[in-house]
Amino acid sequence: MNAASQTSETPVVTVPLLDLKAQYATIRTEIREAVDRVLDSQNFILGGEVEGLEREIAAYSGCGFGIGVSSGTDALLVTLMALKVGPGDEVITTPYTFFSTAGCVARLGAKTVFVDIEPETFNIDVTKLEAAITPNTKAIIPVHLYGQMADMDPIMEIANRHGIPVIEDAAQAIGAEYKGRRAGAIAQYGYFSFFPSKNLGGFGDGGMVTTDTAERADDIKLYRNHGYRPKYYNRVVGGNFRLDALQAAVLRVKLNYLESWTAGRRSNADAYRSLLAERGLTVATIAELTDRPRGIFLPVEAEGNRHIYNQFVIRTGQRNELQAFLKGRNIGTEIYYPVSLHLQDCFTDLGYKRGDFPVSEQAADQSLALPIFTEISDEQRMAVVDAIAAFAAGA
Ligand SMILES: *Cc1c(COP(=O)(O)O)cnc(C)c1O
Repeated sequence: MNAASQTSETPVVTVPLLDLKAQYATIRTEIREAVDRVLDSQNFILGGEVEGLEREIAAYSGCGFGIGVSSGTDALLVTLMALKVGPGDEVITTPYTFFSTAGCVARLGAKTVFVDIEPETFNIDVTKLEAAITPNTKAIIPVHLYGQMADMDPIMEIANRHGIPVIEDAAQAIGAEYKGRRAGAIAQYGYFSFFPSKNLGGFGDGGMVTTDTAERADDIKLYRNHGYRPKYYNRVVGGNFRLDALQAAVLRVKLNYLESWTAGRRSNADAYRSLLAERGLTVATIAELTDRPRGIFLPVEAEGNRHIYNQFVIRTGQRNELQAFLKGRNIGTEIYYPVSLHLQDCFTDLGYKRGDFPVSEQAADQSLALPIFTEISDEQRMAVVDAIAAFAAGA
């Protein structure tokens, strides 16, 4: 492109949904030293790096123990295995979450019982929880979606009254807080994912189970490694759910930056809120989207919560059109999640139908994640707001 044509066109600002290269550039030397340390040791499975990460995440999250595992999905699977969940059992969660929350339950032959979400937070609607409990309920999995914790006090009160263990799906919520306590530290179990797009992301798959007692931690470790106790003597049928030392070494470097990265995401969220509101693009209630389908309903931070914004998810009435418009302006967005889990083909045997969870279904039609990564520039953020304004104006 020559200089003349450049000045005659609007400058193109590309905004990816997530820019991991920008993050890596800030920690490249430290990461390479950590990787070298593992390569020189030639110890690749569990070991000191993983134990170090387990201690550091437990301390960061304020929970008793961390057990490093091969992914967030495997963290849930191994926890359900340790709870001996199987055929005839029921596990309660929401239909508006990442697939594996319900997928792990199905893999063990148990039945997922869904409870609808709250419209503003996308988290489990506690007022509908108790009615879903039956004598077969073996566990409850509240999901801390997008980085904001579910309303844990009433969840724990109900679960404790029925003697049912709770597993916090904190895959998207490391460092999130509810009344001063961090994700993974409130229920009997919790888990994190270190998938690269999570706020603490590895260089591949990884995850961690959190728990409050040494007995439970010990039990998870048993199932993590084939049920060995001792090696080659199998007490139970476990699996290979081990975390690699390379991932742990990378994650230990990144954990030192997590608080500052979270602060960056939170300040980006504040900036979006004020910029979108100043331009008159927001609506105050979800119901207003009926009359103003191009309005933007901003993410809500529930009182007493620290949201860590793994995703900044707006709701809008012409979501697919807005996504296509933004794509045309080189702005990356994502729909988490386009299909509520009770309507997925693989779960037809659960017997649910459209209309069973109307709040989840509407969220699946309206939600859109905007770029919120720590390193986004002011110019990039402004490009997102300008594009939303242009769409609202009917451009
Ligand atoms: C990412 C995620 C998981 C699964 O984690 P993986 O590490 O990808 O297996 C589970 N639940 C939720 C809500 C997630 O976002």
